[in-house]
Amino acid sequence: MRSIIHLVMLFTGFVSSAVIPTNDYWSFRAGLLHAEEVTTIGGRLAFKEGERSANDLLMTHKRAEIDEAFANPQKFLPAKNFLTVLGKIEQSRVFNIMKKLPKGAVLHAHDTAFVHWEFVYNLTFRDNLYMCNNGGDLSLQFFETPSNSCDWKLLSDVRKDPVIANTLNERIRRRLTMLVENPDEKYPDVDAAWIKFMDIFMFIWPILTYRPVWEDYYYQGLKELYEDNVLYLELRSTLPILYELDGREYNPIEVVGIYKNVTARFKADYPDFIGTKIIYAPRRTMKESEIENFINEAIQMKRTYPHFFAGFDLVGQEDKGNTLKLYAEKLNAAQDDINYFFHAGETNWYGTSTDDNLIDAVLLNTKRIGHGYAIVKHPKVLDYVKKNKIAIEICPISNQVLGLVKDLRNHPASVLFAEGVPVVVSNDDPGLFGSRALSYDFYEAFMGIMSKNADIRALKQLAMNSLIYSSLSHDELSHASTIWQKRWDEFIHELNE
Ligand SMILES: [Zn+2]
Repeated sequence: MRSIIHLVMLFTGFVSSAVIPTNDYWSFRAGLLHAEEVTTIGGRLAFKEGERSANDLLMTHKRAEIDEAFANPQKFLPAKNFLTVLGKIEQSRVFNIMKKLPKGAVLHAHDTAFVHWEFVYNLTFRDNLYMCNNGGDLSLQFFETPSNSCDWKLLSDVRKDPVIANTLNERIRRRLTMLVENPDEKYPDVDAAWIKFMDIFMFIWPILTYRPVWEDYYYQGLKELYEDNVLYLELRSTLPILYELDGREYNPIEVVGIYKNVTARFKADYPDFIGTKIIYAPRRTMKESEIENFINEAIQMKRTYPHFFAGFDLVGQEDKGNTLKLYAEKLNAAQDDINYFFHAGETNWYGTSTDDNLIDAVLLNTKRIGHGYAIVKHPKVLDYVKKNKIAIEICPISNQVLGLVKDLRNHPASVLFAEGVPVVVSNDDPGLFGSRALSYDFYEAFMGIMSKNADIRALKQLAMNSLIYSSLSHDELSHASTIWQKRWDEFIHELNE
């Protein structure tokens, strides 16, 4: 018993003065449970007016769903590949509450993957879209007059034959999404999933980089977020060269300007939407010698759009791309000029150079960590992250669909939630996963990764974290918090109704 008491004293010293060391087994047990409860995400929040009864309703549905699955594990949706259960998730009462919940912000999403794939499919019915079958490889691109690079045919002409149109449309739909009936067979490992994932990006690239389409796609993305009760976005963009039919092109800094203008238009249409900031995120395949150009571009963007441009990241499959260490000296030298938001530790390979990206990310003073999936294997980095309030951007569905974890109960973020590490939940590439906006990821995190006992305060903390750990300035944050709090009060009121 002495060693247990010693453990409690050690434990309470770090966590809570509420636990009093005692020789009584049941008091000790209750104290330990209480100490864990206040440590976990949202555990320190007190219930405000109306929240307790709203919570009772939410938890009734949550417990019913989990209890049913506990008795019959086949029914537990977060244990199954999202691609096969998204229709069932939509029928969940908890999910329907998630949709109404004011979720704050999406802090981790990508430019050409954050809009539902059906919107992209509908884009293929626009004028001036041509198709080419190059050795069986289908390409689509907008032209005034097609180039000689391929045997281009106007897509609307090809679709005039209903039989051909049927087959072709099905072929196009399959290229826009990872949705399949048997994902475990189609994507048996991380690499297989990423090959399909990257194929979608390559296929939609020439469609989306047509400037009017780019603008409409982005506007639609904001709309999907807004309709899902998300009020603010930090978007990672590769900032590709955009084109017009007359051959005019827009360089990356002009693309930031285009984003800014469309955001202003969206805010005029939806005045309580807080806004967007852009993170420049080129692919992590560039040569060591090329990184400086990208950093300089980012610095230029920051100077041109100081309130709209947030910072810099590198994207692509971490296991196959270059490490942060390769670019570390140049990135380190620019630390004072630009904020970093690095993807790091999106891997299962413990002790590899990919895994080490977590070390370099914190050394480079990253403001947040994209995924940080491997961080629980690095206790010192985890300590550093807690002390320095570096938020981990958890993207449950992405991690599952891209092959890091099959059953979300085994997602390492359970530890991050339990330890009260600064975290946000985000969606990464919802459009490609058949998901829409943020509620699906909130559902998976709340039902599959957090404790059964995690309640409405955990969700409230997640929403608040998404604003606290954003790049919003002090004044912007104050404005955003006011809008969010109003939405939250309305949500609590609605649940109680
Ligand atoms: Zn990402």
